[in-house]
Amino acid sequence: MTETPRTCPHCGDELKTWRVPPGASWNDEFFLVCFNDDCPYYRRGWKWMKEQYNQDASYRYTWIPSMRASSMIPVWSDKATREMIVCDKGGGCG
Ligand SMILES: [Zn+2]
Repeated sequence: MTETPRTCPHCGDELKTWRVPPGASWNDEFFLVCFNDDCPYYRRGWKWMKEQYNQDASYRYTWIPSMRASSMIPVWSDKATREMIVCDKGGGCG
């Protein structure tokens, strides 16, 4: 059984609790997402998306609790989807 990771396996940063947008095709209310802009996974994504799809976009490492599996969420800028980060500890985020 896979442990729920607390940190990103690509950069070691703490994963943020991220609220899944309403209407998304997931059943989960929350995902765990790496929001480190220097994360190698995220940085590589920009180049990859440009080469594969000629799109200025990337993706962030994501853990889906209900599936106990890693995934990714697509983003189109450093700031994209940050508003969905849940700050459960006062001042701990952003
Ligand atoms: Zn990371």
